Amino acid sequence: MTERYPDIDRQIVCVDCLETAHLITPLPEDDDLYPGDILVYRCEACLDRWDIVYDPDDELG
Ligand SMILES: [Zn+2]
Repeated sequence: MTERYPDIDRQIVCVDCLETAHLITPLPEDDDLYPGDILVYRCEACLDRWDIVYDPDDELG
């Protein structure tokens, strides 16, 4: 099965405690993500919530 969103991290490092924060936003299967969409991560250790703005052009600049 092809990965639909290869550029989206399913996990990030929590900046506060350096543990793993998991993506809890369901990725749309029949639609696309657009720049400005919010990806929400929750840290498994401190339960902090991290909102990441999806911006595929971010790495170009
Ligand atoms: Zn944390």
